[in-house]
Amino acid sequence: MNQKKTILVTGATGAQGGSVAKALLAENNFAVRILTRNGQSEKALALQQAGAEVVTGDLDDRESIRNAMKGCYGVFGVTNFWEHFEKEYEQGKNLIDAVKEMNIEHFVLHTLPDYNKLSNGTYPTPHCDIKAALQAYTVSQNIPATFMQVAFYYENFFTFFPLQKSADGGYSFGFPQGETKLAMVSIDDLGPVVAAVFNHPAEYIGRTVGVVGADDTCYEYAAAMSRVLDKKVSYQYIPRDEYAALGFDGAEELANMFEVQRLYIPQRQIDLIESYGLNPAMQPFERWLIKNKNRFTAMMKAEDAIIA
Ligand code: NAP
Repeated sequence: MNQKKTILVTGATGAQGGSVAKALLAENNFAVRILTRNGQSEKALALQQAGAEVVTGDLDDRESIRNAMKGCYGVFGVTNFWEHFEKEYEQGKNLIDAVKEMNIEHFVLHTLPDYNKLSNGTYPTPHCDIKAALQAYTVSQNIPATFMQVAFYYENFFTFFPLQKSADGGYSFGFPQGETKLAMVSIDDLGPVVAAVFNHPAEYIGRTVGVVGADDTCYEYAAAMSRVLDKKVSYQYIPRDEYAALGFDGAEELANMFEVQRLYIPQRQIDLIESYGLNPAMQPFERWLIKNKNRFTAMMKAEDAIIA
C-alpha cells in the first residue's frame, strides 16, 4: 500500500487554514498535519478527531516550524497580519526559510498584491504589501511554490463589516469601494481550490491563483441582500479620507485597501473563471446568502434590539 504524502497546514484553526485542512481531509489524497500554538483548543481537537495530526509550534519559533515539517511533501502557509501587524513579515520569513531548509516539494502560500506599488507609493497597505514581499522572498529562494490571492471574504459581513440599521428602517454597509467591482469569496470555498492546486503541481508551481467567488459592485451585493433577506439593504460609499478618519483600529489601513481597489483593480474576471474551474462547487454570493439567511436574520434582530 502506498503511504500518503503529508501536507502541513498552518493557520488550520483559523478561516483559511481551516478551509484547506477540511478540504484535504475530505478528499483524502494527502495525510494532513496541522501547526497550532495550542494543540488543546477546541478547533485543534476537532481537526484531530477528523483525522489530522496536530503539531504544536509557533511561527516565531523557527525550530518548531522545521520540526513540524519533518517528512512533509507540501505546506500550506498563511500569516496573520491582524494579530501580529508588521511582525507578519518576520513570521512569514521564518516559515519560508523552514520550507527551503526542509526541501518541501510544493509550498502553497497565501499572499496579496503590493497595494503600495499599485498606487505608486500613495496608499501603503501593510497587510497586503507584506504578503507581496513574502511572495517576492519565496521566489528569490527558488522554492517550488504557488501563491493564492484570496478575495475579500463574504464572511466579513459577520465580523468586520456587519449590517447597520439605517435611518430609512432598512440596513446598510459602507466603505470606500465606490462603484468599482469588489471581488469576494466564501472562505469555505478556498480549501477545494488549494486541494486542486496540490493535486496538480506541474500546472501550478510558479503560478499565482486568485480565489474569487463573485465579482460585482457593492450596489449589486446590497441588491442581492435585499432580495434574499426580505429587508431593504443598501451600500453607502464612504470616501477614503472620511473612512480613514473614523478612528477605529485599522481604519487608515482599510481605507487605503479599498481606495487602491477602487482606483487600480477594476475587476477580477479571470480569477473568477479560474476559481470555478478549480472548484466547481464555488458559491456565488446569492447562493451563499440563501444558505446563511438565518444567521443574517439573527444579526439584524440583534441590531434592532440595540437600537430599540
Ligand atoms: P484567522 O481565522 O484569524 O486565523 C489565524 C490563524 O493563524 C489561526 O489558525 C492561528 O493558529 C494562526 N496563527 C496566528 N499566529 C500564529 C503564530 N504565531 N504561530 C502559528 N500560528 C499562528 O485568520 P485567517 O482569516 O485565516 O487569515 C488571516 C489572514 O488572511 C490575514 O493576514 C489577512 O490579511 C488575510 N486575508 C483576509 C481576508 C478577509 O477578507 N478577511 C481576505 C484576504 C486575506 P493558533 O491560534 O491555533 O495558533
